[in-house]
Amino acid sequence: MQPITYRIPMRVRFRGIDTRYGMVWRGPAGWAEWSPFLDYGGAELVPWLRAADEAADVGWPKPVRDRIEVNATVPAVGPDRAREIAAGSGCRTAKVKVAEAGQTLADDLARVEAVRDALGPGGRIRVDANGGWSVAAASRALRELDRFGLEYAEQPCRTVEELAELRRSLRGTGILIAADESIRRAEDPYRVAELGAADIAVLKVQPLGGVRAALRIAERIGLPVVVSSALETSIGIRAGVALAAALPELPYACGLNTVPLLGDDLVLESLVADRGWLPVTELAPELDRLDRLAAAPEEHQFWQARLMQTRLLDRKGSR
Ligand SMILES: [Mg+2]
Repeated sequence: MQPITYRIPMRVRFRGIDTRYGMVWRGPAGWAEWSPFLDYGGAELVPWLRAADEAADVGWPKPVRDRIEVNATVPAVGPDRAREIAAGSGCRTAKVKVAEAGQTLADDLARVEAVRDALGPGGRIRVDANGGWSVAAASRALRELDRFGLEYAEQPCRTVEELAELRRSLRGTGILIAADESIRRAEDPYRVAELGAADIAVLKVQPLGGVRAALRIAERIGLPVVVSSALETSIGIRAGVALAAALPELPYACGLNTVPLLGDDLVLESLVADRGWLPVTELAPELDRLDRLAAAPEEHQFWQARLMQTRLLDRKGSR
């Protein structure tokens, strides 16, 4: 079938975007989503296309589990709201945003304390700084935040080198580091592992070239993996679920409960967590939703051209 371009407003602005665009199509093996962010271009788009082709033409590897635990996300809000979000999520694990521009370590401490209060001693708390700290600031902040019990700290600093330096400085504290933004392309996880920059790798299916490609990376880097989304509709999230379901080990809750960030979805039964878990189930878009959420003709033309160019680059690259 011809790919369809969707246009879905975000419920809240996220990653600097208000509207999510992408293409979906059905192949012999199932539905595929191709939704590279607009700040990716050229050859960077090829892995995203390979991920979509895998979904459409090959399907998923054999799952070893039938449901995936996911984390709740607590944005940089005040402690009362943070407590509400964590308690209302039904999740055992919360990811708490820290190092927000314009806020202080005291704000982060109050937020994380409130989330610990909501989840109780059995809950797990990871913090995500999105690269917002220097090495010195991260080292100080994480030692203080760890009094509330941290599962790990996601991307505390911006670069792989800084992560490695921070990780060395935290030796003996038991505080674990996860690399997220440092893993943007398929070669990045190897660099993270080589430099000893992280204890955990956050992997996303589309930028890494598909479920099987991500499985190979997970095997070769020898780090535990947290599967995360690239803000896809349920069609794309299904690929993340397939990766999480096929990994031999899955010690941490995944960052796949992001459909609620979108203002709408292409399927009727969205992949949204029920008491902290996503099911491993098949799904397909609803035709009237595809109609209703279709992008404008000029937007569709832009995406068709983007897809054609990426197909050409993929063929050239594999010749
Ligand atoms: Mg992150």
